[in-house]
Amino acid sequence: MINTYQINISGQVQGVGFRPFIFNLAKKMRLKGFVSNDGNGVSILIQGEKPNIEAFLSMIEQSKPQNSRIAKILFEEIPTQQLFDTFFVKPPEENIIPNIPLTPDFATCARCEKEIFDSRNRRYFYPFTTCTHCGPRYAVTLKYPFERENTSVARFEMCPKCRREYVSPNHIRFHSQTNSCPQCGVNMKFTDNKGVVLERDNKRIFELAAEKLSEGKIIAVKNTSGYLLLCDASNKKAIGSLRKRKMRPCKPFAVLFPSMDKISEYLHVNDCNMRSFLSPESPINIIPIKDRKNLAVSEICPGMDCIGAMFPYTGMLKLIAKTFEKPFIATSGNVHHSPVCSSETEAVLALQTIADYFIHHDLEILHPQDDSVILFSAKHQQKIILRRSRGLAPNFFFSDELEVKNRDKEKILCLGSDLKSSFCAVPNHHCYLSEYIGDLSNYDTFLRYEKTIRSYRHIFSFRPQIILSDKHPLFENVQVKHSFPNVKEHKIQHHEAHFAAILGEHRLWESDKAVLGVVWDGAGFSTKDEIWGGEFFVYHKGVRSFSHVAQLDKFAWILGDKMAENPKISALSISANDPYLKPFFQENEWLFYTRQIEKRQVVTSSVGRLFDAVSFVLGFNRTISFEGEAAMYVEKMARSAFFVSETTFTDYLPEEKYTCDFSAKNLLLNIIHDLSRHKPETVALNFHYTLIKMIEKIAVLNGMEAIAFSGGVFQNSLLVDLAIDILKPEFELYFHENISPNDENIAFGQLNYYLNMIKQR
Ligand SMILES: [Zn+2]
Ligand SMILES: [Zn+2]
Repeated sequence: MINTYQINISGQVQGVGFRPFIFNLAKKMRLKGFVSNDGNGVSILIQGEKPNIEAFLSMIEQSKPQNSRIAKILFEEIPTQQLFDTFFVKPPEENIIPNIPLTPDFATCARCEKEIFDSRNRRYFYPFTTCTHCGPRYAVTLKYPFERENTSVARFEMCPKCRREYVSPNHIRFHSQTNSCPQCGVNMKFTDNKGVVLERDNKRIFELAAEKLSEGKIIAVKNTSGYLLLCDASNKKAIGSLRKRKMRPCKPFAVLFPSMDKISEYLHVNDCNMRSFLSPESPINIIPIKDRKNLAVSEICPGMDCIGAMFPYTGMLKLIAKTFEKPFIATSGNVHHSPVCSSETEAVLALQTIADYFIHHDLEILHPQDDSVILFSAKHQQKIILRRSRGLAPNFFFSDELEVKNRDKEKILCLGSDLKSSFCAVPNHHCYLSEYIGDLSNYDTFLRYEKTIRSYRHIFSFRPQIILSDKHPLFENVQVKHSFPNVKEHKIQHHEAHFAAILGEHRLWESDKAVLGVVWDGAGFSTKDEIWGGEFFVYHKGVRSFSHVAQLDKFAWILGDKMAENPKISALSISANDPYLKPFFQENEWLFYTRQIEKRQVVTSSVGRLFDAVSFVLGFNRTISFEGEAAMYVEKMARSAFFVSETTFTDYLPEEKYTCDFSAKNLLLNIIHDLSRHKPETVALNFHYTLIKMIEKIAVLNGMEAIAFSGGVFQNSLLVDLAIDILKPEFELYFHENISPNDENIAFGQLNYYLNMIKQR
């Protein structure tokens, strides 16, 4: 007896080889019918005997393609109207509005890698070799369903050989939408910075690149997610010119290591790093240096003891690594604070004064992205995402909660924050948390932000019914509201959004335990004369607002943004003009600053500025050249003391047990005092320890059982390790793992706050 079933599979099931998988499975099990991509994922009509169909269903779960993620499988028996005599892949309907995750870019798989290194293979030295398991997806997608004609690969018509692979059920490129080869695919060229083409042959291009890198030249390479700037990581002079030309004096550069063996020669890699490099996301990992060997470490990451290590994750990078054989710098192809370049015109214009040579190609990148950056804390291997981008963005798997909390299917756009911008869109049943876009005070970055929102509007035919934004009156991102006249609006406080983000990530909204939120960062708007950054909130299930239970004692915020650039100003303000600091200021500076501080026109509870102040008294006596530099200085110093055996900690908190006086001033003065007795490394470590004891005290005083952490300060992996050491025995701890603790999570937090607090009121 033949039965017919309709099966619908939702989740990350397009662009991951799902249809070929279903096709082959059905063929093997002698079932008939068809499979097709639709707006909700993959739809299957299957005919056969009932036990066979049941076996088929369980095989889908068991042996699904490696990069797929099934959210739901729905199936029902339907009347048999027509008997099929085969199983086939049916083309999708026209004009579908997708209700599925946007498939992210995947690192090149091992099989494709083997082909590009095999001189007998026709894809030898062809960097755009991909299959159903690997290659760019989001980067080349114009709209959904994920079909070749909806991507920028469409303009390359498959040659007969590629076509044959595409239609052969047993081939890894059966229904591979991005399939191409040197015969029919993407063309490359190697040019100088005047635009003169020096080479067009793929193999020669890579040999030439290796030659030029060895000569100390800087090359801008169009990867599949945007341009990267490369130079020899052992060549001080080359890195020096890259820094000068890129106007990036100190911020660390990432280094690409040609192989896993090379990475472990230079760095203390652990299993987490290895797995991460070999994953389809393959982000940059920040790893402690083991052996500097010939690396120009002081030029790569001045003053640091870790390197951002990149593994060659695309054909392009694998081939450069193969020919050059040594580690090289691989940093975003952009000018200071601008977004990463993705078109040849853009790149030539922006990078011709930085790069000596270019490798261009003619595959259009529709969604350029930076590389994602993560780290694992040294002691507890806690994962921390520092930048969520290529491979990790733009999805967030959250749909079942959205179904409950957003029953009326309201279409929502959350604008996030300005400095580390990302946005969050709810155009359907899913939550799309965009990639990191950058600092919106840069006009080009703002345009990229707008363009990415526009692209979502196009993909999903999306028009928000409500826009959520930060309370900051001067944020640039609110300008996008002009494209949506008369839309409802709601403003959400910055730190409340952070807390909502961590509650949302760990699904703590329904937790029966009250949760203490520790939200620490550099600055977030509260009122026109208060900038927050050292906040403690409590969330109880069912209560529709957070209680703000404590904060770092406020001190004066003077000179606007200049305060965050110059740690000594924070030290002066926190110490309330302590005479100890007088020798570090010129007479007129002292007079001007101290008067401003006494006026206290704007005050702050910023833990970020507290770190700045501590960095200064520990010897960081200069302005910062990138955000977080001073805090990293303190962390590095403390870390060097942390791993010394028999370390004993002391905290700088007042003795009283039942009050929580978190005076930043007393803390800083205690540190200054302690410096006369202990090494700065020990003091730095004790400072970290004090912060954790401070959290412990608040948690105990409020009778908490669970603590959740958010805000940029928790990018500090030593602080995270100490929190786990000290607080884990007593409390349940929650850190961000799938999104970044910094302002990249504000958009997601705004959505969570709205769904759980405002909408439920
Ligand atoms: Zn592959
Ligand atoms: Zn071909």
